[in-house]
Amino acid sequence: MLSKDKQVIKNPDSEFIDEVVEYVKSFFGDDAERLRACIQCGTCTGGCPSGRRTAWRTRVIFRKVQMGLKKEALSEPELWDCTTCYTCQERCIRAIPTTDIIRCLRNIAFREGLGIQNAHVFVANLLGKFGHAVPVNDPTKAVRKKIGLSELPPTVHSYPDGLEEVKTLLQETGFIDAVKKIEEIKAKEKEEAEKKKK
Ligand code: SF4
Ligand code: SF4
Repeated sequence: MLSKDKQVIKNPDSEFIDEVVEYVKSFFGDDAERLRACIQCGTCTGGCPSGRRTAWRTRVIFRKVQMGLKKEALSEPELWDCTTCYTCQERCIRAIPTTDIIRCLRNIAFREGLGIQNAHVFVANLLGKFGHAVPVNDPTKAVRKKIGLSELPPTVHSYPDGLEEVKTLLQETGFIDAVKKIEEIKAKEKEEAEKKKK
């Protein structure tokens, strides 16, 4: 029997790379096509500050996309370890817009409800409720006051009408529905994990 890292690839999604390229193109233009030209040289991984401290491997995610391993690529929790510092994009020998592609892969993962961590759901809900991923709390208010600032910053915290507009945007763009879908998937996963324990 082959070891886990040498398993035969079953059911690759040959259209995945086209899906990714088209999606990246819609934001960043035709350079997205260069993804097809990745030769696995590893320059991106070698200079990646996140890869030094985590299991995230830039080169590997592109290989997974090229090979049609959609679920594996999008489910990788390490996909979220990229800090979007753009070092790899500046260094790629094939001028592939690597960081832009990673950001787009995250969007696709979010849409598909794959690889999303509980912390993301938590922050997404804060955004939906307060219009801020990190809302101002009482200790922050106290610090702001101490240094001579208004307790609330001049953001949606100070302008409730603006908050309503942010909520409308989140609703209209499908963000709220996507978060709900992810919560349902996570609840199901939890239920299944608990069933297995019994
Ligand atoms: S540096 Fe560019 S060509 Fe080399 S592995 Fe990374 S993405 Fe592929
Ligand atoms: S943009 Fe992300 S993948 Fe690229 S070098 Fe920075 S942390 Fe690594």
